[in-house]
Amino acid sequence: MAKRLSARRVKIHRQYTYDSAADAVGVTAHTVRAWRPAGLAVLDSQKPHLILGIELKRFVESRASKKSYKLAPDEFYCMSCRAPRTPYGAMADYVPFNPARGRLVALCGVCEASCNKFVSLKMCGELAKTLTIATRARC
Ligand SMILES: [Zn+2]
Repeated sequence: MAKRLSARRVKIHRQYTYDSAADAVGVTAHTVRAWRPAGLAVLDSQKPHLILGIELKRFVESRASKKSYKLAPDEFYCMSCRAPRTPYGAMADYVPFNPARGRLVALCGVCEASCNKFVSLKMCGELAKTLTIATRARC
């Protein structure tokens, strides 16, 4: 799971270099640089490049809120689409990894990439009402 970002240590009236911004947010300076094309505003008319605290805070908070999805029981998070999706053909495979829990494997309803979801055997029984679930051998 990706690391959760926190903007709590970012001061809105300060200016940050890539390194100091990285320290405040808890990521690497390389990550902060990679945020530029993703929309982080950087004052780059002179060196060192500076990031306004209020911009950094706004950017980090918008990214943190985008990362939290509450999936419906019959939805899978597709890593290719980066969005919650219903499984292709309402089908999924259950791969048990212990007697009580297992993994549901389905294909994305939009791009047909493989999606996974960890479920309890009890939850799998509930989902069998809406999805066609085949049980696969443990691999
Ligand atoms: Zn997809």
